[in-house]
Amino acid sequence: MATIFPSSHPLVAHKLSLLRDKETEPKKFRELIREISALLAYEATSDLELYQVNISTPLAIAKGNVLAEKIGLVPILRAGLGMVEGLWNLMPSAEVWHIGLYRDETTLKPVSYYNKLPVEPTVSVCLILDPMLATGGSAVTAVDILKRWGVRKIKFVGILASPQGIENLQNHHPDIPIHIAGIDDALNDRGYILPGLGDAGDRQFGTA
Ligand code: URA
Repeated sequence: MATIFPSSHPLVAHKLSLLRDKETEPKKFRELIREISALLAYEATSDLELYQVNISTPLAIAKGNVLAEKIGLVPILRAGLGMVEGLWNLMPSAEVWHIGLYRDETTLKPVSYYNKLPVEPTVSVCLILDPMLATGGSAVTAVDILKRWGVRKIKFVGILASPQGIENLQNHHPDIPIHIAGIDDALNDRGYILPGLGDAGDRQFGTA
């Protein structure tokens, strides 16, 4: 079974409530997405590997640590874009690799329309960024793409999940940890999370 990590941090819970509010305007909504993403990233990166180095302080030699892993942030277009900045503030040397997916209206399956990954993987750990784990179709496809690319350590970081989305991702990729701010009750017949926060892309970009 994949491991699911719903955040229990009070700051996350508080900010998530503001994010849900339909009166929260796009500027504030974007700020909250950034802030929640950073808090989730703090939790999602707690197992990154380190190697030891010696550091010369002004007085003596100290033992220090350096991140041993190269991190890739993988926002799923377009709603995942707003999560990048929050993580980038914490890990400024992370590479950002965008993946574009749309839902085919007849098959209802995600189709990749943007993917510029080079042949060989350039990172050792990837954090997939998508605020809404709704049906889970995009997350499953994104993990498929990254596994085919050759990345061995992959995590999903999102804001809200539905039980169906979690189940779908866990069934297809039981090895992928899911870091999430909240888990909601259901999906409506258009695939929106209930009670949710609406369309995370429209609310960030002011296109609702
Ligand atoms: N995508 C969104 O933006 N919102 C949902 O509730 C589900 C998918």
